[in-house]
Amino acid sequence: MEGWVSMPKVELHAHLNGSVRDSTLLELARVLGEKGVIVFSDVEHVILKNERSLTEVFRLFDLIHILTTDHKIITRITKEVIEDFASENVVYLELRTTPKKNESIGMSKRSYLEAVLEGIKAVNTVDVAFRPHNADVSNVKRSSLINDTCNGSTRKKIYVRLLLSIDRRETTEAAMETVKLALEMRDLGVVGIDLSGNPIVGEWMTFFPALKFAREQGLYITLHCGEVPNPKEIRAMLDLLPQRIGHACCFEEEEWKRLKSLNIPVEICLTSNIRTNSVRSIEVHHFADLYNSKHPLVICTDDSGVFSTSVSKEYNLAASAFGLGRREIFQLARNAIEYIFADDEVKRELKEIFNSAELDQ
Ligand code: 5GP
Repeated sequence: MEGWVSMPKVELHAHLNGSVRDSTLLELARVLGEKGVIVFSDVEHVILKNERSLTEVFRLFDLIHILTTDHKIITRITKEVIEDFASENVVYLELRTTPKKNESIGMSKRSYLEAVLEGIKAVNTVDVAFRPHNADVSNVKRSSLINDTCNGSTRKKIYVRLLLSIDRRETTEAAMETVKLALEMRDLGVVGIDLSGNPIVGEWMTFFPALKFAREQGLYITLHCGEVPNPKEIRAMLDLLPQRIGHACCFEEEEWKRLKSLNIPVEICLTSNIRTNSVRSIEVHHFADLYNSKHPLVICTDDSGVFSTSVSKEYNLAASAFGLGRREIFQLARNAIEYIFADDEVKRELKEIFNSAELDQ
């Protein structure tokens, strides 16, 4: 495992509230328990449980959202999640989250996002570059791509970009509000839109106007696609030509053909797919077919907290399940650079990071 931790990595499919540390969730649950909002003993085992169906996962998210409902907590979990990814040598992170409105505590989608941005700024174990390139690296020494030397101490650096998620429970208007917020926050590192949430909830036509608008405005799009069998929706999603899709577990022959002909990169979340039973077992996971046919793909965690995983564990699983050696895994990790939602300058710098890491191998 240690070998995969030290390898530089790119994480492109991580949900903020799914990546919260168990210890933080338990601490927050204890506080709400003391206030009488929840019964701690009722939720403790829910947080610590490992095996969950897709339906149970979404019930857990409802619980997590109760625990993290507060600007300060959003800031805290954002900081912790970024620090956790950085400690695993993730050098580029696209973090996604659903901006939430909660009038009872004065939270708007905008103030939620501002709390996330505060969390990014609060990170202190690593240097964070989160603004678009022309804004964010002007003060960073270009020669020091992996480590910034500050006062003699070696500092790691992580690029962070944000994707705003539309939850499938939302209305067209709410989805549009998220897209407009993303457009306004582009200078602060928001690069795209994700469609997620319980895949058996909501209709494609509810989200389509907002996703189409986002695409027309030049935001990047990634969609949770084919988590459950729904050929009509999968076809409609591919017709939108998203720049990436997540999961692709329940594709039929026709849909594979179309996906491959469009060459749309797939975010692969092995543990999540197995734990939620979206894929029967690792032996029949579509990773193997996509990898063998050289289809663009990237290994991701989805929800490192909920599924008790990490990027290194996911690469380790891919290596052992599909018989990939160190060189192949390194190449797989490096290939992800091509699918990031950032400019060529960031890609160039990431390539340099991988090149120098390769020399150390
Ligand atoms: P948040 O957006 O609140 O930061 O992260 C949690 C949310 O991400 C969940 O409520 C859900 O909408 C979405 N999410 C997390 N994991 C999955 C997944 O595996 N599939 C889908 N469709 N949505 C997910």
